[in-house]
Amino acid sequence: MHELSVVTSIVKIVQQEVNKINGKKALELYLEIGKLSGVEMDSFYFVWPQCIEGSALSDVKLFIEEPIGKAQCAECETKFQIDKSFDSCPNCNSPFKEIIAGKELKIKKIIIK
Ligand SMILES: [Zn+2]
Repeated sequence: MHELSVVTSIVKIVQQEVNKINGKKALELYLEIGKLSGVEMDSFYFVWPQCIEGSALSDVKLFIEEPIGKAQCAECETKFQIDKSFDSCPNCNSPFKEIIAGKELKIKKIIIK
């Protein structure tokens, strides 16, 4: 499952940050997971509790932003919202576009005690 490796990586990175400053616990964690990142949030929340158990994240408060997908058409330069990465331009129907938002998958901020 893709989400399991995503969560495992997040836990690993946060744990390293906690160790780096000799902290005890991560208190708050701010993530950005775009709608086009390929992460299913249901699966994410399903694997989350078992991944943080016994780690520095076991009591962490999780804040997740989910930016919507946005693209700019390569033919007519229309900017539009997309739900799936293969959606075409609503103006000229071209499948060629540049994704400008929604693929984010990152840790924005960690608060450590
Ligand atoms: Zn277009």
